[in-house]
Amino acid sequence: MTAPAARVCVLGPSGRMGRAVIEAAAGRSEVRITAAVDRADAPGLGTRVADMVITTDIAAALEASDVYIDFTSPAATRAVAALARTRSRAAVIGTTGLGAEDEAAIAALAEVAPVVVAANFSLGVNLMLGLVRTAARALGPEWDAEIVETHHRAKRDAPSGTALMIGRAIAAGHDVAYDTVKRHTRDGDVGARPRGEIGVASVRGGDVIGEHTAVFFGPAERIEITHRASSRAIFAAGALRAAAWVVGKPPGRYDMLAVLGLA
Ligand code: NAD
Repeated sequence: MTAPAARVCVLGPSGRMGRAVIEAAAGRSEVRITAAVDRADAPGLGTRVADMVITTDIAAALEASDVYIDFTSPAATRAVAALARTRSRAAVIGTTGLGAEDEAAIAALAEVAPVVVAANFSLGVNLMLGLVRTAARALGPEWDAEIVETHHRAKRDAPSGTALMIGRAIAAGHDVAYDTVKRHTRDGDVGARPRGEIGVASVRGGDVIGEHTAVFFGPAERIEITHRASSRAIFAAGALRAAAWVVGKPPGRYDMLAVLGLA
């Protein structure tokens, strides 16, 4: 017997990712969009998506769903996680630029419900994390590791959440804590590059959906591992897969590798 479709609440349905999630859900049997919630000043409020009227009533939306998908802003992610905690509602969270308070709200939700959190829901980037970790481990900190990320001009946070995941994967390959070796952009007289530093440069412009390159500079040779997203549909499909997977799991925080069976 096949499992019933997971009932999904989409946050921010008028946003870039919210729209992509709703489009990707059409024609999928494992998920059904049952609620769509946006901010009071969102352009699509009151209109219909996937037979749903977009409202601001998050409490009713959580009641009508098994899991919510969140690609919004850190403040919204924090507020909705606190509400979802009172209902032990499962969550799939893709918002990036999260601070300590936002992470604490997610951790509190994960005590009572299963929560998938990923700064990138694409299969390719999640595979890339394993590749860069392997490369960093094999090459060691003698090979200078740098990350370059490029995104559209509307992106608010920098470095991207994906660049941070890549940085952490390289640091794990070097057996060091990322925060002790990271260098987010350089400006002014920063001195020569210390051995083991992991630099991240952020480029913003146009409508680039997301590009990440990890560069390993060796003596007279260089390795570059690049991922380029050319459609938000890959993130949306990954988030929907995570939503169908997470319903019914024990409380806890999961990543995309767990969803993909690669953990
Ligand atoms: P966007 O600005 O186009 O959309 C954000 C949406 O959230 C808007 O519709 C906004 O009205 C809505 N929103 C804000 N507060 C809300 C609230 N309290 N309740 C409900 N809705 C609310 O942004 P975007 O490009 O779709 O990106 C959103 C987030 O997702 C960013 O943090 C981005 O970095 C991240 N992102 C993650 C992935 C991934 O794979 N994890 C991929 C792409 C983008």
